[in-house]
Order: sequence, then structure tokens, then C-alpha cells
Amino acid sequence: LPGVVEVRVALTASRPERTVIAIGSGKGGVGKSTLTANLAVALARMGKRIGLIDADIYGPSQPTLLDAHQKPQAEGSKMFPVTTPSGVRLLSVGQLVSPGTALAWRGPMATSALNQLIDADWGDTEIILVDLPPGTGDVQLSLIQKARPDGAVIVSTPQDLSLIDATRAIDLFGKVSVPVLGIIENMAGYTCPHCGESSDPFGQGGAETSATNLGVPFLGRLPLSASLREASDAGRPPAAEEGPAADAFSKIAAQILA
Ligand code: ADP
Repeated sequence: LPGVVEVRVALTASRPERTVIAIGSGKGGVGKSTLTANLAVALARMGKRIGLIDADIYGPSQPTLLDAHQKPQAEGSKMFPVTTPSGVRLLSVGQLVSPGTALAWRGPMATSALNQLIDADWGDTEIILVDLPPGTGDVQLSLIQKARPDGAVIVSTPQDLSLIDATRAIDLFGKVSVPVLGIIENMAGYTCPHCGESSDPFGQGGAETSATNLGVPFLGRLPLSASLREASDAGRPPAAEEGPAADAFSKIAAQILA
């Protein structure tokens, strides 16, 4: 039947052959954006064509983290991602407003801006990471429904407060049938650069224990590190250079691909 053929074509056209991975956290400030930027760079270094949608309407930091502040080119309402110095194709809500402008978008406005990023011309991009806004509200839900991720990665600190919220985020993905690929623990342990002593400002091992209890993979951990923070602020993702941070990010990236 001609009608059936048409429906099939429409379904194929609505979802190009690429993998979409959402990076979420229950809580803000746990390092979700920093880790997303570095995972994108690590995946790009593995030879993948990587896109990144910075959907964090409360703090779009990807233009700073990846040193790409230019406005995206557009044809009509179709936007083209900006290629960052480390080879990631980026679209960020931060590119749509002047730097420093507060984004006081209500739900429908945020959703329509985010839809524009998802519907952009992603060309032959193979994997798109979506840096979600923290939390588990309506904006996150609409975004997940629109982007239809193939999987989700959750970022948490080892702290109980962050883990409780991370559990909520896992629950949200479960409700919309998005498989959770694993949890990454950030800010896990601190080594004093002066005396070399190690401490655990946010506790130890909490995310790994939670992952085991929730039956989801534990993908790895990153320490609290001044050099990671400084490099991130300067738009030099450590994953783009050689070193222990780059090694940690490429190990996590390899697990996400597996
Ligand atoms: P989120 O996206 O979860 O809100 P960000 O990635 O913006 O979190 O990180 C919050 C702050 O913590 C930023 O100032 C960032 O540079 C810093 N940060 C993130 N991860 C680390 C880390 N492992 N060590 C040191 N600082 C970090």
C-alpha cells in the first residue's frame, strides 16, 4: 500500500542513524558539564564524529569549557553546529543569548529553544552527547522525549545528597525507558598539592556503592582537582592533552562505546 510506504519513510527520516547519549545529574554543580565536555573530546580523539548539545538552560557552560563562543551559522531556523578547537560539534543555549544574560525562560520557551538545537543540521555526526539541565522536571522530560536518547549517563559526587538526586534521575530515565549506561563519580578524593595528603571532602565510593545497589554499571571516577578546574575555566579540556585526566576520560568513553 502506498500509504504504508510513506509512513515507513517518515519514520526513518525522523530519526537519523546516530547515537544520542544524555548526560544527567539530579543535582547542579556536581561537574556534569565539565565531564560531558571532556567525554566529548575523548570520544572525538577516538576518531568519532561527536556532537554536543548544551541543553543546560540554567548554566550553559560548554562554550567556555570548549572555547567556542561564536554564534552558530543558520539557514532560516536551521542551525549549524560550531566546531570547537578540539573537534567537537557544539550547539549551546549559551550561543543563543549574550554571555552573562540570565536565562529566565519558562518551560515552553526553553523547550522550543532546545528543540531548535536538537533539530539542527548535525550532518554526519555519529554520536551526540546531550548535557541536560540538572534535575528531573518538565523541561528535562520534554527534552528526553524529543531527543530520544539511546542511553543515559549519570554524574554524581560521592556525597549522599547528590546520590539521592542521582537516584531520582535514574528513576526518570527508567520511566521513559531510556537505559542507564552507568554512573560516573566526580570530585572523588583530593590530594593536597603541598603535602601530598589525600582526603575525601565529599566522601568516598558512594557512587560506586549506589551503582551496585541500583544495578547499573559504575563507569569510573575523577578526583577533585585544581588543575582540572583551571584548565576547564581556560577552555582547555584536559581530555585533549596527555595525562592522568585524559586517561581517565578515555577509559570512561571506551566503556560508554562498548
Ligand atoms: P554541573 O554541570 O553539574 O552544574 P559543572 O561542570 O559546571 O557542574 O562544575 C561545577 C564547578 O565545579 C565548576 O566550577 C567546575 O570547574 C568545577 N569542577 C567540576 N569537576 C571538578 C573536578 N573534578 N575538580 C575540580 N573542580 C571541578
